[in-house]
Amino acid sequence: MARAFREQKLVIASHNRGKVREIAELLAPHQIDVLSAAELGLEEPAETGATFAQNAEIKARAAAAASALPALADDSGLAVTALAGRPGIRSARWAGPGKDFDDAMRRVHEMMEGHPDRSAEFVCALALCWPDGHCESFEGKIAGTLVWPPRGENGFGYDPMFVAEGHTITFGEMDAQKKHAISHRANAFQKLLEACFPS
Ligand code: IMP
Repeated sequence: MARAFREQKLVIASHNRGKVREIAELLAPHQIDVLSAAELGLEEPAETGATFAQNAEIKARAAAAASALPALADDSGLAVTALAGRPGIRSARWAGPGKDFDDAMRRVHEMMEGHPDRSAEFVCALALCWPDGHCESFEGKIAGTLVWPPRGENGFGYDPMFVAEGHTITFGEMDAQKKHAISHRANAFQKLLEACFPS
């Protein structure tokens, strides 16, 4: 059985503002004081894992140890079928130091040009770690297809080129509430909330 979260404060172990905002919105109903790693001045550990789950745990463990508070980390990315799962755990790095996702999306588009298979999935691994070293991990996914050119100004990262299965607009065109209801992060969160935040 998963360990229940009974504390008042939770650190979001991410320096990505888009992600911190989404996680804070998803946790809003639970009346927890959410602090970000950036506002606590925590360092970002090297993401040396080979999977989303390993990287999420590395980040949550480091933030919990440094802050002496429970910490939640998300490691996520876009896995493109025609690119054998890339950019995958390197999704953020494909945008370079300037975090230019127009560039990263163009790179995905150019690498898959000519491939008939436009399918991809967003994957989200969540790790909730306590300062005593205990961690709980969860994974969520959403399948979809990639479009070109990118469309929409909402969301972040690769959202403007991703159309979720059963939809016609991109995540970049979808309003935040709708994305939160179906996204890979929402799916992983649902599992986390059921396991660790019993009502
Ligand atoms: P991480 O901080 O190493 O987990 O990087 C995750 C990267 O994956 C982000 O910077 C985005 O490029 C991409 N990504 C993850 N989740 C989403 C999403 O919901 N929409 C768009 N891109 C995402």
